[in-house]
Amino acid sequence: AKAQKGSRTVLFTAELENRNRAIKQTADDILRGLDDDAFMPFYQLQFDAKTLEISGVETLARWQHPEHGVLAPDRFLKIAEDIDVMWRIDRSLAEKACADFLRWRLEGLDVPRMSVNISARRLLDPQLLASFPTQSFPKGTFVFEMLESIFLDALDDEMSKAIDRIRKAGIAIEIDDFGTGHASVLGLTTLHPKRLKIDRALIAPLTRGERHRRLIAAIIEMGHALDIEIVAEGVETQAQIDLLRTMGCDVLQGYALARPMGTRDIEAFLRARLPA
Ligand code: C2E
Ligand code: CA
Ligand code: CA
Ligand code: CA
Repeated sequence: AKAQKGSRTVLFTAELENRNRAIKQTADDILRGLDDDAFMPFYQLQFDAKTLEISGVETLARWQHPEHGVLAPDRFLKIAEDIDVMWRIDRSLAEKACADFLRWRLEGLDVPRMSVNISARRLLDPQLLASFPTQSFPKGTFVFEMLESIFLDALDDEMSKAIDRIRKAGIAIEIDDFGTGHASVLGLTTLHPKRLKIDRALIAPLTRGERHRRLIAAIIEMGHALDIEIVAEGVETQAQIDLLRTMGCDVLQGYALARPMGTRDIEAFLRARLPA
C-alpha cells in the first residue's frame, strides 16, 4: 500500500509538473504575443429589438496565435491576469477599438454604440480612463460593461468616485451577466446603470417552459420600472428572437443575429449595408 501511495505521489507530481510547464509555455506565448501585437478586438453586433437595426457592438478580446489561430479569452485571460499583463492586453485593445470606432464614425458606418468589458480590478485603476481616447465620441456612445459581482456590495467611497469619473467622461455603464453567480439587485438602484445584460444562461432555456419565460418577463419589467434598458445575450434561435421581441426586450445579441467578427469583416458587413 505504501509503494502504491508512493507511485501515486510520483504520478501526481509529474502531472503537476506537466501542467505547470503548459502554463509557463502559455505565459511565454502571451508575452511574445504582446511583443508581436497579436491581441486584437473582435466585434459582435447588437440589434434594436423593435426595429432590428444595429444598435451597437460589443468588443471581445482575441489572440491571433501563430500556431493555433484565433483564440478566445478562455485560452489566455486567466493566465494573463495571473502574470499581471492583462492590463497591457486591455490597453492595446482599447486603443484599437477606439481607433476603429472613430474611423467608422468618420466613414458614416452606422454603429450607434461601442461597448467594452471592464474587469473588477480595473475599475479602480487610475489609468483606466486615460487608456480610452473617447473624447470625440458623443456622450453615451461609449459603454463600459461590468460584471454584476462588482456591485455586489454597497459601493464604497473609492468605487463611487471611480463610477463618477466614468460618468463625467460621458461613458455609459452597463451591468453584464445579470442573473448569474451573485444576485445583486442592489446595484440597480445604487448605480443606476443605463443597461442590464441578461446572461446567456437565463436566455438559453427561455423557450423551454413557462417559468423560464416568466423569469425573463419579470427581469424586463423590473428593469423598465427602474428606467434601465434590457439586453439579451446569447440569443441563438429565431424562437428566442421572436419571444424576446414580443416581451419588450430592448436589445438583442447572439449568434442567431451576428457572430463576433474581426475588424476587416465587420467593416465589410457595415459597408454592405450602406445605402448605394
Ligand atoms: P461576455 O462579456 O459575457 O461575452 C459574451 C460571450 O458570449 C463572448 O465570448 C461571445 O463570443 C459569446 N457569445 C456571443 N453570442 C453567443 C451565442 O449566441 N451563443 C453562445 N454560446 N455564445 C455567444 P468570448 O468572446 O469567448 O468572451 C468570453 C468572456 O471573456 C466575455 O464574456 C467577457 O467576460 C470576457 N472578455 C472578453 N473580452 C474581454 C476583454 O477585452 N477584457 C476583459 N476584461 N474581459 C473580456
Ligand atoms: Ca460582456
Ligand atoms: Ca455577458
Ligand atoms: Ca456571459
